[in-house]
Amino acid sequence: MEPPLIDPFARTIEYLRVSVTDRCDFRCVYCMSENMTFLPKKDLLTLEELDRLCSTFIRLGIRKLRITGGEPLVRRDIMTFFNGMGRHLEAGTLEELTLTTNGSQLERFADDLYAAGVRRVNVSLDTLDEAKFADITRWGRLPQVLRGIDAAQKAGLRVKINTVALKGFNEPELFDLTDWCAERDMDITFIEVMPMGDLGNEDRFGQYWSLEDVRAQLAERTAITDLPEKTGGPARYVQLENTGQKVGFITPLSHNFCESCNRVRITCTGEIYTCLGQEGHSDLRAPLRSSEGDGALEDAIRAAIALKPKGHDFDYSRQRADGQVSRHMSHTGG
Ligand code: SAM
Ligand code: SF4
Repeated sequence: MEPPLIDPFARTIEYLRVSVTDRCDFRCVYCMSENMTFLPKKDLLTLEELDRLCSTFIRLGIRKLRITGGEPLVRRDIMTFFNGMGRHLEAGTLEELTLTTNGSQLERFADDLYAAGVRRVNVSLDTLDEAKFADITRWGRLPQVLRGIDAAQKAGLRVKINTVALKGFNEPELFDLTDWCAERDMDITFIEVMPMGDLGNEDRFGQYWSLEDVRAQLAERTAITDLPEKTGGPARYVQLENTGQKVGFITPLSHNFCESCNRVRITCTGEIYTCLGQEGHSDLRAPLRSSEGDGALEDAIRAAIALKPKGHDFDYSRQRADGQVSRHMSHTGG
């Protein structure tokens, strides 16, 4: 029995998010620039390496695995990887296998994902207006995503919608979005926009819509009850009395919940980031490739977790985007 992964602040690490590609079929304005240069294929972990890496983490105590990107479902043969992880679910060593997706490929993959053991997916969707959707994602088409959501629900997957709260963009749609989710029996989580990526000609502070304000607007319409549920992540949940639905708030800016953070992230090149909001990271690809045994990899994982910082430094309180990190979200996987 391996000792669990515990960081210097006594947080047990049980949640791993893995980016399987930096590529995407969308170019959301807050996530990527229009002309992205993607990594050469040889730098990416192969599907076999991803399997070995995740299996090692599971042996060290990871219980929840979330696959992300870029857009995870555009990685070639990605179902081979999902099917491989299914064996850990069957063995009971992994409790949950899930993914975050833009939904564009769900129509194609929903049944296969269910067959691999996935039961829940997070679909990112910021607006129900077709023209606005095309604007914010640059390359995305709303009907394709809506068909993907239909297919996921039909396959038996529980869908949660993730919505980035953007000032002056989806403010007028707050009730439309929550009502639409309630009608379809989907929970919704709002996310504060984070100062990541190339901020050269973009105004992240101008886009920032505090979730305190979102919550206050929801409370004007119906009673809200705080739910005690904690996921070890940054989200806090409430229940709306009128629809009974659950609404989550991920508030890295207006509240920081780093003290209960139980997660680490792996990029598609095998870097481990123990905090989304800090630049510090270590390489797991070299130890992974250096030998067929997993000893060097395990040592590198433990060494990285021993350096997990206390928290991030994102801060808009001085009326500008402080504590920003230069990576795009698609690099670390949101
Ligand atoms: N392509 C998939 C998707 O869009 O769901 C998975 C990767 S995407 C990077 C994961 C999440 O990060 C999405 O919900 C997206 O809205 C969010 N995201 C990207 N850039 C962000 C930013 N600057 N601030 C807050 N959330 C961001
Ligand atoms: Fe692609 Fe997701 Fe980033 Fe949008 S948020 S560009 S869908 S990786």
